[in-house]
Amino acid sequence: MAFEGLAERLQATFDKMKGRGKVSEADVKEMMREVRLALLEADVNFKVVKKFVNDVKERAVGQEVMKSLTPGQQVIKVVNEELTALMGGEQSKIATAQKAPTVVMLAGLQGAGKTTTVAKVANHLRKHNNRKPLLAAADVYRPAAIDQLETLGKQLNMPVFSLGDQASPVDIAKGAIEQAKEEHCDYVLIDTAGRLHIDENLMGELQDVKEAVQPEEILLVVDAMTGQDAVNVAESFNDQLGITGAVLTKLDGDTRGGAALSVRQVTGVPIKFAGVGEKIDELDEFHPERMASRILG
Ligand code: GDP
Repeated sequence: MAFEGLAERLQATFDKMKGRGKVSEADVKEMMREVRLALLEADVNFKVVKKFVNDVKERAVGQEVMKSLTPGQQVIKVVNEELTALMGGEQSKIATAQKAPTVVMLAGLQGAGKTTTVAKVANHLRKHNNRKPLLAAADVYRPAAIDQLETLGKQLNMPVFSLGDQASPVDIAKGAIEQAKEEHCDYVLIDTAGRLHIDENLMGELQDVKEAVQPEEILLVVDAMTGQDAVNVAESFNDQLGITGAVLTKLDGDTRGGAALSVRQVTGVPIKFAGVGEKIDELDEFHPERMASRILG
């Protein structure tokens, strides 16, 4: 079924109310049911939806909307504001360490878009922040990940540190930082290994890298198309590794982006970037307000 915008859906409820003069408890309930459906259709995790709907009900709908002349707009405004706030309100920038180089680890499941995102973020840092990044090829498990990063590095004309696929990710990460210092690079972006599913070995290796290099940022790369699954992925990585931010990829697809809300809700960390295509410059800073509008349809 094609999704109708929330505004349209709510209109039907408001039409019914017209002429009755007063908005009943039942009307509010019905409106929130529409909001709930809209969020579920946008692939927001059901637990997250439940909490959200309850919060919104408590915060404003009861009073403001009932007294308002245009309850429809009010509900949408409140829902929009609340969604924006839940996703962090403001745009959140990538951190810079006090002492260069700033080390950023990118983690995520295989296929999420990690390797591509390493190059995209590096390109972004150079283009918009005038930084000089070095890329570290520490995904020693996915065949071709190292080649892929080297190719991307060439394309960007940026240094890539690699020790092949037999070295340990910890040695690669450390070596990359050394090289960055020698070459006066101020960011080191580490491409780490993913797996098809979360497992202990994967987490153990990532923890080792974290321990060894104490990154300023650990960004979890999540495929926005995975919808509901994004919650489990985000929860596991955050519990076991501790992440500082997320990058949502493949937002150029037809997903409405509910994963953004879910990831933010279960981890509490900001989403910093959005991948919007396969090309190297198809990366946007993440704007909570724009995403709220997209989720609401
Ligand atoms: P990794 O296994 O996590 O390192 O994943 P890759 O970086 O190899 O990406 C997996 C696939 O997703 C590749 O075909 C990428 O081109 C594609 N990809 C990555 N980010 C995006 C994005 O934002 N939009 C689209 N459409 N494709 C993406």
